[in-house]
Amino acid sequence: MNSAVPGRPADGTRRFTGTLGVLDGDPVAENGVMVTETAIWRDQLTAQERAELGRGAGVIPLDRPDILVVGGGIAGVATAAACHEAGLGSVLLIEAGRLGSGATGGAAGLLTPEPHEWSDPEPFVELARASLDRWGRLDERVPGGVGLVELDWIGLAPDPGGFAPHLQPAVEWLEPGDIANLVPGLARPMAGALIRHQARVNPLRSLARLAAGLPAVATGIAAISATVRGGKVVSVGTTSGDIHPGAVVFATGLPPLLDGLPLDLPATQVKGHLLATEPTPLRLPGTVAPIATQLEDGRLLVGGTFDADDETPKVRPDVIESILAALYATLPAVRGLKAAYQWCCFRPRHPDGRPVIDRVPGLDNAWLTSGHYRTGILMAPITAQVISHWIASDQPPAEATAWSSARFADRRPTGH
Ligand SMILES: Cc1cc2nc3c(=O)[nH]c(=O)nc-3n(C[C@H](O)[C@H](O)[C@H](O)COP(=O)(O)OP(=O)(O)OC[C@H]3O[C@@H](n4cnc5c(N)ncnc54)[C@H](O)[C@@H]3O)c2cc1C
Repeated sequence: MNSAVPGRPADGTRRFTGTLGVLDGDPVAENGVMVTETAIWRDQLTAQERAELGRGAGVIPLDRPDILVVGGGIAGVATAAACHEAGLGSVLLIEAGRLGSGATGGAAGLLTPEPHEWSDPEPFVELARASLDRWGRLDERVPGGVGLVELDWIGLAPDPGGFAPHLQPAVEWLEPGDIANLVPGLARPMAGALIRHQARVNPLRSLARLAAGLPAVATGIAAISATVRGGKVVSVGTTSGDIHPGAVVFATGLPPLLDGLPLDLPATQVKGHLLATEPTPLRLPGTVAPIATQLEDGRLLVGGTFDADDETPKVRPDVIESILAALYATLPAVRGLKAAYQWCCFRPRHPDGRPVIDRVPGLDNAWLTSGHYRTGILMAPITAQVISHWIASDQPPAEATAWSSARFADRRPTGH
């Protein structure tokens, strides 16, 4: 069972994860520097892309869609787009806040499957690789692209044995001299690993570009209940009336908690802070872990903390200071560089840190994807493909096997 978390109603209904302020905010003065307490992503959008995130506010354009997708984060929008593209009938997407107002709007936007070889099992890494491949195809197919930026990933190894053997040919090992050429100004010599052809996106831009191709989007509308009859969801109650879908996909970050929906998966949220600095003339090659990723205008995107036991929705100055201190300690060349944007958001997580991509147990016409934790932006296109193929064929695609919710069937809910 999900615990009470920031952004959820405190009245016990716990119906939807709300906005965490990652989208809106004006600059405020902090120690003489203007700092915006929201993600940088919105400020990089065109007016049209920004408008897309608030599309269809408060109005349900069709109440009997063939497919209803609940949740306008990257998983929901990508899934709605995949269902629409696959010709599965009319598709309606509803979102409680604005598109991207959950974890998606605050993510770093890195699409780096290969380093997961060091931390995750092979099916996960394969899924991630397939998803990066699909990101590339989306970038070609979606009008104007989805804003995919190819980059190299460099991982610094403080000690020579820092990276366990990685057999993939994707990795090039770099001596301290090579690293010093690529990343000038390091505090001390370090070896490292180079992986080419990874990528990143502005997650809100990708969301806006994908959403622009959707025929029916309603923001500011939360699903609050479900009516189940004969093993099917026959209606979904929302804050603006009932919807009677042919099939429904829940992509609500955490598993959905709707009155009448028989679903109770263990999940929690893990807060993380990020910041984007002022522009700097220093040039980093792509993303240098754990230092920073360089953005288009020279800013450094830094952080991605894991703030255990912090459920407050606010940015914590002490965490921001610790991110900057770590940056200055590793890269003294940028000492004094200030944060221009600082924000936090919550990663939806199942106990094993891996996603669920499944049909809702016991229901014929309902699917869910949840708990994408650290890699939901990366995994969105393949998740969308798995679900749309499953709806189309009524058979689980092979890739879905490892991500079944059945793996939690014998676990008691953590209550957290
Ligand atoms: C600091 C940080 C850095 C990260 N960096 C990366 C990264 O570099 N790469 C990467 O791949 N991932 C990254 N992530 C993880 C990524 O942000 C998430 O895994 C991903 O955004 C999850 O997407 P989602 O669509 O499943 O959930 P969300 O983005 O949370 O979307 C769910 C949406 O559903 C809506 N909703 C919920 N309930 C209801 C309801 N009842 N009715 C209607 N709408 C509802 C919410 O308002 C929300 O907008 C990072 C996360 C954090 C916190």
